[in-house]
Amino acid sequence: MKRRDPLTDQERSRQMALVKSKNTRPELAVRRMIWSMGFRYRLHATNVIGRPDIVLKKHRRIIFVHGCFWHRHKGCSRTRMPKTRVRFWKQKFQLNITRDKVVRKKLRQSGWKILVIWECMSENATNLNKTLRRFLGDLS
Ligand SMILES: [Zn+2]
Repeated sequence: MKRRDPLTDQERSRQMALVKSKNTRPELAVRRMIWSMGFRYRLHATNVIGRPDIVLKKHRRIIFVHGCFWHRHKGCSRTRMPKTRVRFWKQKFQLNITRDKVVRKKLRQSGWKILVIWECMSENATNLNKTLRRFLGDLS
């Protein structure tokens, strides 16, 4: 199924900014769930490498909630490439992927355990719950 990208570059940039912003719907879903599991956390901690979305400092656990498009979820249908300025976007996406990788590596080296929740995963509450329990289960 081929669709023309209906967005102009300017609109696309604005959408990108939104996609990248804090307190997205997937993030709220994850936060609500771990809160109900009894965990308390810090948001967008500026003193932690990569300013992770959710930091459970006491447990040295970090949860990133990644937008599939922006962070390029492998094999996910939401990673459709914009039809214009393809080279620009490819570079931009590559930067994101590389930065994510570097951040995760640095965090692991400092003793953090990391979970990445993809936007598309956050929409299935049952699976999300399972994934979060697997990651945090031994702590509660
Ligand atoms: Zn995805």
